[in-house]
Amino acid sequence: MSANPKLMNGTTHDFRLLINGRLVSGASSLEVITPATGKLLTTCARADTAQLDQAVAAAKEAYVKWSVTPIEVRRQALVKIADALTARSSEFARLLTEEQGKPLAHAAGEVGGAIAMIRAFAAMDLKPKILRETDAERIVQLHVPLGVVAAITPWNFPLVLLMIKVAPALLAGNTVVAKPAPTTPLTTLLFGEVCAELLPPGVFNVIVDQNDLGGFLTQHPDVAKVAFTGSTATGRKVMASVAGTLKRLTLELGGNDAAIVLDDVNVKEVAAKIYQGAMVNSGQVCLAIKRVYVPDALYEAMCAELAVLAAATVVGDGLDAATEMGPLQNKVQYEKVKEFLDDAWQHGKVIAGGRALDREGYFIAPTIVRDISDDARLVREEQFGPVLPVMKYTDLDDAIARVNDTEYGLGGTVWGADPARAFDVAQRVASGTVWINKHLELPPDIPFAGAKQSGFGAEMGQEGLEEFTQSKIINMAKG
Ligand code: NAD
Repeated sequence: MSANPKLMNGTTHDFRLLINGRLVSGASSLEVITPATGKLLTTCARADTAQLDQAVAAAKEAYVKWSVTPIEVRRQALVKIADALTARSSEFARLLTEEQGKPLAHAAGEVGGAIAMIRAFAAMDLKPKILRETDAERIVQLHVPLGVVAAITPWNFPLVLLMIKVAPALLAGNTVVAKPAPTTPLTTLLFGEVCAELLPPGVFNVIVDQNDLGGFLTQHPDVAKVAFTGSTATGRKVMASVAGTLKRLTLELGGNDAAIVLDDVNVKEVAAKIYQGAMVNSGQVCLAIKRVYVPDALYEAMCAELAVLAAATVVGDGLDAATEMGPLQNKVQYEKVKEFLDDAWQHGKVIAGGRALDREGYFIAPTIVRDISDDARLVREEQFGPVLPVMKYTDLDDAIARVNDTEYGLGGTVWGADPARAFDVAQRVASGTVWINKHLELPPDIPFAGAKQSGFGAEMGQEGLEEFTQSKIINMAKG
């Protein structure tokens, strides 16, 4: 295999790790598959445990200076990184489509979102807060950095989920070791190249693994905090592994978000929005609509509309301008979604899609399933793919109970014409975020956190920044 492989667009690039400010080859290399063909896209550097140790040691050493660097200087560094990403945004977008599969316009949207996230954090502050001031005493609360942060990310939104961690961690004065998912390491490595020129050595490091180094990172005695996004199953392992060192921990995990449709909606309008909320990124979104509950009177019409939308969707290579939905990101996920299709055929009525596309790559036709029981796998588990079950309800209280009957509690949506009634229903959905008459809006200044086994600890907003700090009280006698 070439050490300097060609990408699909014909450019040549050597993707290397970033350790202590230097771009270095890996102890071995990793094959990266492009999901639109299932074929090799390129190879990149893969780290071993010695390189992981070097990255953590570099971050630990860099922390000594970075943590006392004035916040204004750290802020300016983030702005420069955002500017550099902006200048190279089309390169990042194309690489993201090649490694992740999403349509190029969506990849450009993710790159734009990642840049917006950095700029939003760069504009935030961690000002000392005077909790009490009397003639006798002054009590001040500070937010001080923690140390080395491990940023572990999944493959569905490799860039934006990285920035949600890296930008606040660096602004607060921490240093970072990032570890992307093994099937989407390239945009993170390219981001490392940008940072190599703009940050002091060791402040930001990137290692790549093949699902074998995460545990070493989360257990490492010199890592102070783990910021993890991934599945609930892995989140449980991460939580167990940080216990030995009592690290700070943020877990953004899986979801099985429901859309509750009330009986006063315009079915055509709402169906289009629900479809979009379920199928964006080929359904590979933690907060995607993964179940729909529709009142008896609207059930036939809603199912029919969703089926029409699914049948009309153009599925294909994300690099084709006409493509509206790309492939599943990797083979494991593709096989998993095919199992959900089998379950759908067995336990429900498939009214659109229902099969993998007969072509190379990891393509699944957008699928709508009706008349499926609440205990089918497709309803109970996180499908993380373009297969949407639609259930009927007669009684709203009963529907809310069915929605809440899950270990997950990430998000959800309510669709209704009466705002007060929709708000009341939203209050009763047991999850961290509920949207009403819209979906998947995640403003960088609004905190986002899961309930139940969808995780804990906020990302984004001031809370998301303070998650990368320790509250410190200075209690001073006067006079
Ligand atoms: P995953 O849990 O398999 O992997 C996530 C990351 O964890 C990868 O970088 C992986 O290499 C790493 N990892 C694997 N084993 C590890 C271990 N033992 N210790 C530490 N790290 C380890 O998840 P995935 O399949 O990449 O992503 C899909 C999942 O992520 C879905 O469940 C989805 O809902 C969830 N997700 C959640 C959010 C959110 O914000 N809540 C956002 C996106 C995705």
